[in-house]
Amino acid sequence: MKKIAFIVIISIIAMLAWMAAGLDKVPHEVRIVQPRPIATVTFQNPDAPRPMIIPVAGVDRSAIRDMFDEVRGNRRHEAIDILAPRGTPVIAADDGVVKKLFTSVPGGLTVYQFDPDERYCYYYAHLDGYAPGLREGQMLRRGEVLGYVGTTGNAPKDTPHLHFALIRLDPDRHWWKGTYVNPYPLLR
Ligand SMILES: [Zn+2]
Repeated sequence: MKKIAFIVIISIIAMLAWMAAGLDKVPHEVRIVQPRPIATVTFQNPDAPRPMIIPVAGVDRSAIRDMFDEVRGNRRHEAIDILAPRGTPVIAADDGVVKKLFTSVPGGLTVYQFDPDERYCYYYAHLDGYAPGLREGQMLRRGEVLGYVGTTGNAPKDTPHLHFALIRLDPDRHWWKGTYVNPYPLLR
């Protein structure tokens, strides 16, 4: 009987030891793996220009072509010409403030409009005239009429068109300083 009791006691001790060892192992074996949060990657470059509409009323995308890199005279064109009958409304490509109404020898009657973030400037040239009451500091909504297609400046008198450019402003945000960016892929 003593032997049996001894064996039972040993067995119980062994079992307890095994359980203790097992319990000790549990936290190591059962690892709670925190799921990694799935990164939501957006490929939108925060520096990219905003979406724009074709800034001449009634002109379809199929009617314009990419002429940004074409050479005109001794310089790159760096703009898109949008042909339309004289007097066709020129509309704001985007929301934003009219920064400058300017008359220049090449551009004729022009409008410089900043985008709402004031990172880019929209340039409209060869206008026949401005929309009535248009003034510097005025907020335009996308699609709002700002002027009319014409041939002021150096545009051929028999080819009324809007010369439209997109300018990435320098950090000091002056309407006359920046880098021309091709608006063609962005026009819808
Ligand atoms: Zn042009």
